[in-house]
Amino acid sequence: MNSEQLTAFGSALTWVTLVVLGACFGSFATVLESRVPDGKSIVTPGSQCPNCKRELRWNENIPILGFFLLGGKCKGCGLKISTKYPLIEFTTALLFVSAFTPGPAPQLGMAHLATAAIAIVTVPLFLIDIKLYRLPNLLTYSAAIAVAIFAVTQAVITGDWVAFMWTMLCGLIPAFLLFLIAVFSKNGMGLGDVKLVVSLGIAAGMFSYRSAIATFVVAFLIGGLYSLGILLTKKGNSKSAIPFGPFLLAGFWICFMGGDFLQNIVLAPWSF
Ligand SMILES: [Zn+2]
Repeated sequence: MNSEQLTAFGSALTWVTLVVLGACFGSFATVLESRVPDGKSIVTPGSQCPNCKRELRWNENIPILGFFLLGGKCKGCGLKISTKYPLIEFTTALLFVSAFTPGPAPQLGMAHLATAAIAIVTVPLFLIDIKLYRLPNLLTYSAAIAVAIFAVTQAVITGDWVAFMWTMLCGLIPAFLLFLIAVFSKNGMGLGDVKLVVSLGIAAGMFSYRSAIATFVVAFLIGGLYSLGILLTKKGNSKSAIPFGPFLLAGFWICFMGGDFLQNIVLAPWSF
């Protein structure tokens, strides 16, 4: 192999590793989604059938494939397994792998690792907020700590602590604004949203302050449009509780995947 082939081989191998890791985190995400709201341990017991409590064997536990190996139902009691599980696994794996794009070679910088950390909690937070109108501390705090560690590591590597300060402000300023909204609006923004914004803002801010601003602009735009839709179709009134976490998460991923192209469009009217 010449050096070019070696580089391509290295990239391919890294992608395969990331796909496998993503699938494992996808499996972990189903555990987070189903256990964290009840405060159950996310470590023990192993995955089991909710009906007959039969423990899953190692090959049935393989992310995404396990569901199909079992034919979508429990081998013990025949209970149908919700398609929710393979969907959570697949979406989480997809977000996780996307975190290392763009480019033929995986991007392994700290900002991308922080994005990958967000990928692990995105689907659980999204589903829990829609269902229970809350964003569990375990997930929002873990994400914020993980992202902060990557931000500090980036600053240690580059030695640019001024950039680090700006990156932290990308999370802290919007969190403070959202905190004010949460305090002054009776039923809208919650403190869970405030905590989530810290990690999303820092992770986006590690790329640029523009991506952080774009993230929140998009989140408020789609959240606002959704609320308007609810009002116009008279499915709710202005007092209806609408979970905001899903819009924050969607804003983050739309801006990450849309890159500079989308951010330029989003920020054009505000001249950032
Ligand atoms: Zn069963």
